[in-house]
Amino acid sequence: MKYINNKFTIEKISVETVAKKFKTPAYCYSYSKLKENVENFKKNFKSFAPLICFAIKSNSNINLIKEIKKFGLGADVVSKGELMAAIKAGINPKKIVFSGVGKTNDEINYAIDKKILLINAESISEIKEIEKIAKRKNKRIQIGIRLNPNIDAKTLSQISTGKKENKFGVNNKTFFEIIKYCKYSKYIDLKCLSVHIGSQILDHKPYEKTLKIIEKILEKTNHNFEFIDLGGGMGISYSDKSKKLSYVKYNIAIKKFLKRNKLKVIFEPGRSIVGNIGFLVSKITYIKKSEKKNFIILDAAMNDLMRPALYGAVHKILPSIKKSKNSKKPCEFVGPICESTDKFTLIKNFQELNEKDLIVICDVGAYGMSLSSNYNIRPKPVEILIKGSKIKVIKKRQMYKDLI
Ligand SMILES: *Cc1c(COP(=O)(O)O)cnc(C)c1O
Repeated sequence: MKYINNKFTIEKISVETVAKKFKTPAYCYSYSKLKENVENFKKNFKSFAPLICFAIKSNSNINLIKEIKKFGLGADVVSKGELMAAIKAGINPKKIVFSGVGKTNDEINYAIDKKILLINAESISEIKEIEKIAKRKNKRIQIGIRLNPNIDAKTLSQISTGKKENKFGVNNKTFFEIIKYCKYSKYIDLKCLSVHIGSQILDHKPYEKTLKIIEKILEKTNHNFEFIDLGGGMGISYSDKSKKLSYVKYNIAIKKFLKRNKLKVIFEPGRSIVGNIGFLVSKITYIKKSEKKNFIILDAAMNDLMRPALYGAVHKILPSIKKSKNSKKPCEFVGPICESTDKFTLIKNFQELNEKDLIVICDVGAYGMSLSSNYNIRPKPVEILIKGSKIKVIKKRQMYKDLI
């Protein structure tokens, strides 16, 4: 991803070429960036060889999941649909964990039939539901319990999940009750303690604190867990000024923990694997000048990329062709949808732009396409995977006949 002769280029393909071939808006993913992210992730934690379960909800394109599977990753799923996608992509069910507070009877049944590694339960009621189904099938089911460690992950409040006011996991007291309950159950095999404290975490300290809390809890019980599932949440840099999560420090904390607690580690990364591999290419439909700023009206909208409207997230926007002349007024990049939240970002010093120019919205590989909708009966964009000078359509643009 760099400018070659002033043209924004993903591997060996310029976004101009993409737009010409596939129209806009278009989601483009870089294969080599994906590979680099996976290799980096593995390298950071290689001393204890964790099971890395890719969080499917961050990007559920089946062809991308197939590539991720080839790197040996498992999957973290949060619905039957995601579980079906993971299995269809060829991921070994023994590398799949199922999270979420509201798994239905149908979803649990399906997960049990597929013999996945773990159902990470989040309440006593859910455990009883799993037990009921297991009893009927006369099977013993491996589960995890998700602990709510009451930790501030120091991220956006909308994507914090480990505080006591969040719906996720169970508190210490319930955790001990569940351990006791499972001890006497013929059908439940409690194998794992799981946590996931939030997303886009850039500070290692909340992770350190979580490990300390887990350690205390493990000291108080004599239950033999086999796994510790530390969830995902590792943040990425959405801006050049952003701080960076220290994998080195996180790794040190885990290694210290593992010295005293012999457990197999599971991770559930989503964003850190796919976030920075994705680019949304969009064309400027109109430029509307106002007193204080120019509205750059794009053909991409909040239905294609919801993160800005949903959490006030800011994505870097870059021109497809670099020019030296600057726009006289600040540029606000907006979509065509009839909602005031349908805007991406305001940039003070952007280069001069013209109608029909292309721009690139960066770092949209995670929670981009997977959060997209058909609001305003807008067809979802095409998704393409770029590998060197090769382009592969991994999902076709939706057609109006699919929608109407
Ligand atoms: C969303 C989610 C993840 C992935 O989070 P990232 O921030 O994308 O790494 C992992 N585990 C669970 C339980 C989740 O809900």
